[in-house]
Amino acid sequence: MINEFEFLTTREKIVLLLKYSQEPLTAKQIMKILGIKKEKEVYENLYHIAKSLKRKNVKLFVYLPKCNNCGYVFNIEKPRKPSKCPECKSENIEPPKFTIKWLK
Ligand SMILES: [Zn+2]
Repeated sequence: MINEFEFLTTREKIVLLLKYSQEPLTAKQIMKILGIKKEKEVYENLYHIAKSLKRKNVKLFVYLPKCNNCGYVFNIEKPRKPSKCPECKSENIEPPKFTIKWLK
């Protein structure tokens, strides 16, 4: 499996990483582990992954981003990192984390 890993698309690599990672990962962590250049690219891939997995027996779970200052939880529809808290205007935001789990 490791040898063939090189030939997978970025999207396939993200799916494998999130399936087998012990912990949910942020876009930045995914970016570093897989050597992806832009965080935005990771979020775009996650968006397509979420849609494509709907047909299968696995699901992309999102731990919602949170304001580290006041605790406000963002209800995001698309995978992204909010820049500013609407409640306290803080930019100290805990980014969303992602994992893929099998459905029972
Ligand atoms: Zn806040």
